[in-house]
Amino acid sequence: MSDLLPLAVALERMLATIVARPAREVRPLLTARGAVLAEDVMAAIDVPADDNSAMDGYALRTEDLPGPLPVSQRIPAGQTGAKLEPGTAARIFTGAAIPPGADAVVMQENCSEKDGLLLVSGSVAPGQNIRPRGQDIMAGERALQAGRRLRPQDLGLIASLGRGQVSVYRPLRVAVLSTGDELVEPGEGALSAGQLYNSNRYTLAAFISALGMEWVDCGIVADDPQATAEALQQAAARADCVITSGGVSVGEEDHVKHQVERLGRLELWKLAIKPGKPLAFGSIDDTPFIGLPGNPTSVFVTFALVARPFLLQLQGLAETALPTLTARAGFRVTRPGSRQDYLRVTLERDGPTLVARRFVNQSSGVLSSVSQSNALAIVPPGVVVETNDELQVLLLDLLTS
Ligand code: AMP
Ligand code: MG
Repeated sequence: MSDLLPLAVALERMLATIVARPAREVRPLLTARGAVLAEDVMAAIDVPADDNSAMDGYALRTEDLPGPLPVSQRIPAGQTGAKLEPGTAARIFTGAAIPPGADAVVMQENCSEKDGLLLVSGSVAPGQNIRPRGQDIMAGERALQAGRRLRPQDLGLIASLGRGQVSVYRPLRVAVLSTGDELVEPGEGALSAGQLYNSNRYTLAAFISALGMEWVDCGIVADDPQATAEALQQAAARADCVITSGGVSVGEEDHVKHQVERLGRLELWKLAIKPGKPLAFGSIDDTPFIGLPGNPTSVFVTFALVARPFLLQLQGLAETALPTLTARAGFRVTRPGSRQDYLRVTLERDGPTLVARRFVNQSSGVLSSVSQSNALAIVPPGVVVETNDELQVLLLDLLTS
C-alpha cells in the first residue's frame, strides 16, 4: 500500500520541526541523573592528579634491582612521600602518590620484607603498577559532550573533575490526554457494560518520567468536539508537547484530528508499522502535538519508536538511535506483511545464540504481549520468517529508559 509512511520518514519530518533547545538550568550532581547535558564539560585538572600506585606494594627504582633494598619510607593513600633515595624502596598503598624518583611498584605478593630489607621475586618493568597522572582525563580535554543523557557513570566522571554541579536542559513538560467515552480511571469503581479502564495514561506517564521529563496530567476527555478542543488547548498551554491517545482513526467519534486541524496544524499518517498504524503529528498554538492510536499495545510501540526519539531530541539529546541485537527466530511468519512488524518476544539464551520466542497473542489490544516480553523483534514488510532466521531485536528495557 503506497499511502503507508515508513517510520524513518515520519520521524525525520517530526525532527525537522524542532528549532530550539529548552532553557538551561544548573543542577547539583545528585539530582542530575537522566537530564540532558547542556554544556561541554571541560576538565580543569588531570585525573588522576598524580602518578599513583595501582597496588599495595613497594615503590622503587628498577635500576636498583635485584636488591635487597632498605625500606626508607611508608606512603599511605592521601599522602605524598619524600623523594626516593637511590638504592631504597618505599612501602606504598593503592592510590598513594608515587614518590619522585621511583619508576615502578612491585605488588606486595611478590615481595618479602625482613629486618627493614625488601626482597623482590620475579622481574619488574619500568612503569609497572603505576597509574600515570592524567591517564583518565587530561586538564583541558573535553570530558563529556553536550547533548547526552547523564548516566550514573557520567555523574561520577564529572565529580572526579571536582565539579559539584552541571548545566542541563530544563525537563520538558509533556501533557497526556486520554480520549474516549468508554474510559474509567482505575481505582474509581467497577466498570459498566462497554467501559474499560484507562491504561494508556499510566503507560505514558511512566514512560515520560522514565525519560527524565515531567508528566502533565490532562485526564480523560469525552468523545465530543467542543470538549476535545478545550482540553487540547489547555494541554498545549501547560506543556512543551501534547500527547493524546485514541481518537485519531477514521471513525466519526474520533475528534482529535479534526480539532487539532482547526486549532493548529496536523498531519495524519498511516505509519508502515504494526502495531500502530494511525499516527497524528502537528501543533496546537505552536506546541508540538502527537496523536497516538488508542490500542494499548499500539500506544506502547508508537510511543517507544516515534514519540520517544522526538521528545528526547526536543529535550536536547543529540543521538536517539538505539542498538539492536541479533537473535534467531523461535517462530515462523508465513505471510509477508505490508508494514514493518514489531513482534513482542522474549529473548532466551540457547548456547551462543539468542532465541526470540513470540508472545502467543500479538493483537494490538493485548497489553500482556508487551508486559510478558523483553524485546521487539523487527520483521520488515514483505518478509517471511523461518524458524532460526536471523532477526534484529530491540530490548524493551532500552526503550523504556
Ligand atoms: P480509538 O482510536 O479511540 O478508536 O481507540 C482504539 C481502541 O483503543 C479502542 O478499543 C479503545 O477503547 C482503546 N483505548 C483508547 N484509549 C484507551 C486508553 N486510554 N486506555 C485503554 N484503552 C484505550
Ligand atoms: Mg476512542
